[in-house]
Amino acid sequence: MITSTTKRFWYALVSVFAFMLRYRYLKKWFWAPLLILAIGAIIPQQMIIPVKGATTASWNKNSFWAYPWGSSITHKGIDIFAKKGTDVISATRGIVVYTYEGGKGGKSVMVLGPKWRFHYYAHLNEIKTFSLKPLKRGDVIGTVGDTGNAKGKPPHLHYAITSPFPYPKLYDSVSVQGWKRMFYLNPDIWLR
Ligand SMILES: [Zn+2]
Repeated sequence: MITSTTKRFWYALVSVFAFMLRYRYLKKWFWAPLLILAIGAIIPQQMIIPVKGATTASWNKNSFWAYPWGSSITHKGIDIFAKKGTDVISATRGIVVYTYEGGKGGKSVMVLGPKWRFHYYAHLNEIKTFSLKPLKRGDVIGTVGDTGNAKGKPPHLHYAITSPFPYPKLYDSVSVQGWKRMFYLNPDIWLR
């Protein structure tokens, strides 16, 4: 449990089951959240590069888990460079979990996509979506900027994908923070 989104996801999931145990007449509905989890897990994940007009040359493929990376220690996503104001589009279909302004990410958007993966879009110049909005692939959610700790750096989209369910095969005993890699997926794999 390492990102606040992962923590909140588990808190919500455990709460649902705890609630059902507490109120025994709900027990027969135990299958319902399990079914929802299963449906989410089989929705295919088709992805597009989340910056309009960007190509595979717009980011450095070695920047995922680059170290050292300031106060984040390692770089848990990729940086897609583009002119300030370029449309940021949703890489997948999904639903907006939250939009936020502040901290390292500046203006940021979190989207829940297929397979219970969370897609994080940060350093936006402008947010153009809202919480709980359903998204199709390619829907505009904001624009490229330099907010948060990208201030003074070339405008780019910080794009990261996390999974609340760890992938043991991604465990890495060599890298710095290698155990955390079980919760972070490299977007480069799907965008190339
Ligand atoms: Zn970044």
